[in-house]
Amino acid sequence: MKKSLLSVALGFAALGAFNAQANLDQHVKNVEQQVIEWRRDFHQNPELGNRETRTAGIVAKHLKSLGMQVQTDIAYTGVVGILKGAKPGPTVMLRADMDALPVTEKTDVPFKSTKTTNFRGVDVGIMHACGHDTHVAMLMGAAEVLANMKDELHGNIMFVFQPAEEGAPLGEEGGAELMLKEGIFKKYKPDVAFGLHITSSLHTGKIGYRSGPFMASADRFEITVHGRQAHGSAPWTGVDPIAAAAQIVTGVNHIVSRQVNITKEPAIVSFGKIAGGVRNNIIPEEVEMVGTIRNFDMDNRAQIFENIKTTATHIAKSSGATADVHIHEGYPVTVNNPELTAQMLPSLEKAAGKQNVQEMGKITGAEDFSFYALEIPSVFVFLGGTPDDQDLKTVASNHSPYFYADESSFKVGTKALSQLAVDYLNSQK
Ligand SMILES: [Zn+2]
Ligand SMILES: [Zn+2]
Repeated sequence: MKKSLLSVALGFAALGAFNAQANLDQHVKNVEQQVIEWRRDFHQNPELGNRETRTAGIVAKHLKSLGMQVQTDIAYTGVVGILKGAKPGPTVMLRADMDALPVTEKTDVPFKSTKTTNFRGVDVGIMHACGHDTHVAMLMGAAEVLANMKDELHGNIMFVFQPAEEGAPLGEEGGAELMLKEGIFKKYKPDVAFGLHITSSLHTGKIGYRSGPFMASADRFEITVHGRQAHGSAPWTGVDPIAAAAQIVTGVNHIVSRQVNITKEPAIVSFGKIAGGVRNNIIPEEVEMVGTIRNFDMDNRAQIFENIKTTATHIAKSSGATADVHIHEGYPVTVNNPELTAQMLPSLEKAAGKQNVQEMGKITGAEDFSFYALEIPSVFVFLGGTPDDQDLKTVASNHSPYFYADESSFKVGTKALSQLAVDYLNSQK
């Protein structure tokens, strides 16, 4: 008797779970067309970092219409919405970035952007060439799905619509780092964070994930070599900063290959620009060099910073020159918490289908989602947006003026965000 009661109870529980999943699926279906329309509108009206006022306005209005508590104007244009579930529990954060890029769109979609701007002295178009328009639309869709399910939620969901992921205008701060500086984690105390990025490197509807370090840190270095100007015919009368700079390039290129334990994680140091001198027979006074540093390990990163300084200053000194080295710290390594990644993998499989979820290799690009992941356990995943009939090797990538995101992937992204939130909250009850 007892046994059969138990099995009846278990049967009801299973049925409840089944109904909850069917509900989620239905709500995702209901918002799919709306997500596509929102995205077309954002695509046609792109805004650069820290200037996403129109986008943020539409987001805030939508979140308010769903009955959420909404805070706006965070880190310039950022929006946070809090959805309170009917039952107590932790807070899950879901994040979308809102900014577009100074790229002149060359696709032929009917909602193509014709917006232009003057970016650092250059007349250029504005385009959602990284697909952040799709992120905003999918998270607005997930907000609607989850608001419709709030009676079943064991905890709260914090929706973060973030400005300036691609970097702030010169002289301004921005992005995830500024949102944190303005206290969003202190105020809303999320327990875990999830984020999603659309990519040309996967086919429509596929989800790519990776446990541990996933995307690289990105830091900029600047080296100025000071010599002493002289006639090119008599180099011994001055100090040649060009010859010193050439040796510094060679020395710095030896750091990764000779001094860093790359069995731990890979690393990259690349020079992007060298400038010095005006004509053939003048040894110039100084040479400027800039480059980028990429890492997947925060200790390697700190070591490379030190080694660049030592290498540049000592090589300069050996020829009588001096070198000033400035390292501008950009985004940290994006690390997916291994336990949380393992725990949430079934949710990604529910969203995309088991056969459509795949482990990805490390990516040497960077993401400022990494700042959130430094604070709380987080998982960042990629959603494929390249139609199946196109070759992933030759298709236009994110940031290309031809970047194209297949609308039929949005339902998978909307579902993944919703599923991650619901499943995490259910796992904690
Ligand atoms: Zn980008
Ligand atoms: Zn991006």
